[in-house]
Amino acid sequence: MSDVNIKIDSSHESTNDVNHKSADNTDNKCANNYVVKVEMTRQMSLPTNLTSNHLPANSAPFLSPPQSTSSADPVHDLPPELLQQGWRRFWSKREGRPYFFNKVTNESMWDMPNSSGQYDPITDPLGIQSPVPPTPTDPVTPTLPTNFGHWPQRGDKRSLSMDDAITGQPPAKRFILNGPFDLEVHTNVIIWERSPLMLFHAHPELEALRAILVTKLRQQYHEMCHSRENIETPKESFNRWLMERKVIDKGCDPMIPSDCYSEMSRSMYNEIMNDIPIKLYKPKYSGEARKQLSKYAEAAKKMIESRNASPESRKIVKWNVEDAFQWIRKTLNATFEDYQQRLAHLKQQCQPHLTEAAKASVESICTKIYHLSCEYAKKIYQKNIEVLTADGLKESGPLRVQNPKKVFCYPVVLTHPCPKLPPVHIFTDKDMTHLRYKNDSLRVSTLYLQKLEQLYRYNCFDDRKFNLFLTRVWCLLKRYQTWFGSNESTPTQGALPLSVFSVLQKHFGVTFECFASPLNCYFRQYCSAFADTDGHFGSRGSILNFYPVCGSFEVNPPFCEELMESTVDHFERLLGNTSEPLSFIVFVPEWRDPVPKVITKLESSKFKRKHLVIPAYEHEYRSGLQHMCDKNELNVKSAHGTLIVFLQNDSGFLKWGPTPERVDELIEAYKCGRDKDIPILSPPPTPINNQKSESDKQIISESGHKLDDSTVSVSNCE
Ligand code: SAH
Repeated sequence: MSDVNIKIDSSHESTNDVNHKSADNTDNKCANNYVVKVEMTRQMSLPTNLTSNHLPANSAPFLSPPQSTSSADPVHDLPPELLQQGWRRFWSKREGRPYFFNKVTNESMWDMPNSSGQYDPITDPLGIQSPVPPTPTDPVTPTLPTNFGHWPQRGDKRSLSMDDAITGQPPAKRFILNGPFDLEVHTNVIIWERSPLMLFHAHPELEALRAILVTKLRQQYHEMCHSRENIETPKESFNRWLMERKVIDKGCDPMIPSDCYSEMSRSMYNEIMNDIPIKLYKPKYSGEARKQLSKYAEAAKKMIESRNASPESRKIVKWNVEDAFQWIRKTLNATFEDYQQRLAHLKQQCQPHLTEAAKASVESICTKIYHLSCEYAKKIYQKNIEVLTADGLKESGPLRVQNPKKVFCYPVVLTHPCPKLPPVHIFTDKDMTHLRYKNDSLRVSTLYLQKLEQLYRYNCFDDRKFNLFLTRVWCLLKRYQTWFGSNESTPTQGALPLSVFSVLQKHFGVTFECFASPLNCYFRQYCSAFADTDGHFGSRGSILNFYPVCGSFEVNPPFCEELMESTVDHFERLLGNTSEPLSFIVFVPEWRDPVPKVITKLESSKFKRKHLVIPAYEHEYRSGLQHMCDKNELNVKSAHGTLIVFLQNDSGFLKWGPTPERVDELIEAYKCGRDKDIPILSPPPTPINNQKSESDKQIISESGHKLDDSTVSVSNCE
């Protein structure tokens, strides 16, 4: 994957205007020294370049004071309360007038901030102790969220990260990253302002510890399945358990469950039970069917003899097993169907007794894993506190928004302060970039690193200078690696084809994915599993904690039944609670044997406007490893049909309803290979001519990730 191009499509300023020097040196010390230097021309492409920090014009405080000024120290020539809040005065060479920059919140303004109406972002991050009460807003006219200390406000200098729709101002300069996504689509999703989440900021030390503990828990689960039930761990069941627990967990770890009202996980219990006494698969030939029948019979016999079962259960199982063996011996010319029928019969007779015999032991695996999980979550919590204390910080209490307004949705904000983050090392090797913290090197394709950079630019407001960017990317990659597990299988991460997203956006007004990650998202706004690592890159947190009142959504959930069911219940409540247009287009696997509850719920929903099925093998998914896999492994044929259901309230139906023309477009977009029609710009050719001009050389040397020598040892990275 190397389809990269960053281009500047409009330029209102000269290059020099963004090439300033910091006035307040202390403010600009970088954790990573993620170098700020811009050399840009119109339509110039910057191939691999995180370095070239196409910074928004207002993203850093740069001083260029006028030659004559009445004050000896114009930077600090402000009322004391403004100085205390972090405000400083600077000079804009471009505009030829002063502006004001807040070194604590990174906000900048043309006009002098009003000290009386301001709040201290440190002691009062929500502005809730402000003497000026927030004005109630017209409920149908969304505004910007009130701020969490650093959210840009109306009247601020334009930031690239703010929606044009919100500010109504023309973009100052825009960098468009071309790739298998469209990060330029503005949101039409409106929410009530929400309280910051009680989560710690991600930190490499914590991610490393979480990875060790999750791997250990996975291993313990694996060993228990083996030693107690004599089965292999059901594939992906640990990850489904994590997702199922998260539906009800109220604990403080973003990944490891620790506060669930029921200790016993139904999903884990059912998945283990389903493989007892052996895992059954669909045989292809009668030889295989015969073998499976005798294997099941043997395993059932062995199990009932070795467990604490009632004499009645033993008798029934043994009799049926004996009967099956006799049938196998006698029936020499049995067909494939005969074997299958016989197995179904044997299973029907034995399974209730086997389940009863295994019940206590399987339950004890589920509770044991949950208890270990609580223990590990506690360890991580303690380590979080240690990290904060070492920096002289404390966790904060809950923060609430008073008089919430309707606003365009915005990325999650965390209550706890961010500790100092250590630097990570970066090394780019062809299309892959490696990020290393201590001895742990993680890889991501360079294009996707650029995608993350763009998402960060649009969504992150506490690090305008990108000082923490690489460390946060490392944490993000580590989190997902930990979640995927060592075999890097990612069935929970498969995405819809780009052509489908494109049609959803164009014809159904979709601007938001309800299930995504920063790595697989198509839009710049989406919900994801991990608010703490993903929020800086645009996540609005878990879908189950997200309450939109208006907007058009695409919904492609991971295949975890409990999560899918809760999501549909959640949508029904949302649709019933608003009269503004709301639409969810849901994509789920078309399982019919047995029919999962989620399908029954979807098909019987009073908000269902239409449903259709795209048949198995006639459509594709994008690989869950799209951020690091080979081009030829990108699209994977779907082995199951996909059921598409339109859930819409009346106004959602009026605005984005599934008209025959729109549905035809959608079906057309689903045809295999349509992704090839979506234009993705190729990377600029690598210069091979040794006679490069000075300016060429400049561009090329700018194209690597420029970091301070003290924090990067490129040649040492593997
Ligand atoms: N965004 C792509 C791929 C979806 S794959 C698409 O819409 O086609 C499903 C995604 O849901 C995964 O990335 C998974 O990490 C994420 N996910 C898991 N639990 C979630 C939750 N509670 N809320 C939102 N996203 C979640």
